[in-house]
Amino acid sequence: MADPAPQRGLVLAHGNGRSYGDSCLNDGGRLIMARQLDRVLAFDRESGLVTCDAGVLLDDLLKLAVPAGWFPPVTPGTCFVTIGGALANDVHGKNHHCAGTFGRHVRAFELMRSDGQRLTCAPDINAALFAATIGGMGLTGLITQVTLQLMPVASAEMMQETIHFDGLDAFFAIAAQSDATHDYTVAWIDALAGGSALGRGVFFRANHAPASRQPSSRPRRSLPFPVRPPIPLINGVTLRAFNLLYRAMQPHSAEPSRIAYRPFFYPLDRVRNWNRAYGPGGLRQFQCAIPMAHARDSVEEMLRRTLAAGEASFLTVLKLFGDVPSPGMMSFPLAGATLTLDFPNRGARTERLLDQLDAIALAAGGRVNPYKDARMSPATFEASFPHWRDFAAHVDPGFSSSFWRRVTAG
Ligand SMILES: Cc1cc2nc3c(=O)[nH]c(=O)nc-3n(C[C@H](O)[C@H](O)[C@H](O)COP(=O)(O)OP(=O)(O)OC[C@H]3O[C@@H](n4cnc5c(N)ncnc54)[C@H](O)[C@@H]3O)c2cc1C
Repeated sequence: MADPAPQRGLVLAHGNGRSYGDSCLNDGGRLIMARQLDRVLAFDRESGLVTCDAGVLLDDLLKLAVPAGWFPPVTPGTCFVTIGGALANDVHGKNHHCAGTFGRHVRAFELMRSDGQRLTCAPDINAALFAATIGGMGLTGLITQVTLQLMPVASAEMMQETIHFDGLDAFFAIAAQSDATHDYTVAWIDALAGGSALGRGVFFRANHAPASRQPSSRPRRSLPFPVRPPIPLINGVTLRAFNLLYRAMQPHSAEPSRIAYRPFFYPLDRVRNWNRAYGPGGLRQFQCAIPMAHARDSVEEMLRRTLAAGEASFLTVLKLFGDVPSPGMMSFPLAGATLTLDFPNRGARTERLLDQLDAIALAAGGRVNPYKDARMSPATFEASFPHWRDFAAHVDPGFSSSFWRRVTAG
């Protein structure tokens, strides 16, 4: 979509561009490439407190911290994000039900405003800017340095259990039970299964593994996606085959297996440029959060609508968010369920379905994730974040993004 009012003078920090939509873009304006801020400044191996430049990649932090017995308290599904990007989007991980979002573990950061001020922000220093910047999508200024509390781990491995389930009732029962016993929980849904199999999938739950005398498994090298296909390789036929294969490949035993942390947290990172499989049109990701009271029925409705539209999602992920408040004003998660769908972008027909999914989420009192979005309307944004004007008071007048202009234009 064309930017409604490109602004030449305005800037935006850009981390590693792993946001799915236009919240990290600034059409017609300028980008500050924050990856250049790449130093780790201090790492206390006793307390797990790390201070680093905002452009340091989570991948680099993992390489430093894990051998020393520390782990990021919250990690998204890729380690190729910057620490500043993780803070600015207040990202969540498979442990949201116990750890909340990334911002909860940020002890302080430095923010550079367009008037040249460099402000230290912490829960008790410049508290309003602290809250606005966590989840503030880069709009409050440039984050230059972050101090983060890591969490201790006894090994670089996970104890993972895999449970097949036959529908949404089973998912909600397993998830409620597992959230009490496991730090990490998430489910893959077979979005092509309809009728009595609607909502079937595979549930993954894990805890960090205890120390072991066995040597850790060596990390496997990532494989490139070698071509830029002129047409999408993800279509009805390949999706059906993928879903059948994926389900069949998952172990049927609930026995815990010890696996390295990277394949558990970052399965997509093994295939570099995996997004090329979607062809030149790319993909549209949709993620919503639905309050628990309506979660079961709304998720069912979304899966039915998706099937009826003939727009199968490649990777469909369902998880429960916990009731763990974030310090961020614009943080996305809310207590309930979150559903994520990835669609090959087929233009108007994909947009029509996405509009319907927005409507289901909003009718249930839910919200649509802004940093996975490239098309939500101003009305959807307003309904998702009714307090956005309070946040707008903290936006730096020298900063803007394509996303921000689009959703506040109405
Ligand atoms: C495979 C994959 C899996 C993912 N899984 C998850 C998941 O499980 N949970 C989740 O929450 N997200 C997930 N994401 C999304 C991703 O974690 C976030 O979009 C993340 O914020 C991207 O970080 P980035 O460094 O690439 O930042 P960018 O995408 O470049 O920017 C993100 C935002 O941060 C701002 N920003 C970046 N650096 C700075 C800075 N130094 N100062 C001020 N603002 C800055 C930008 O302006 C922008 O608004 C996933 C993405 C991918 C590709």
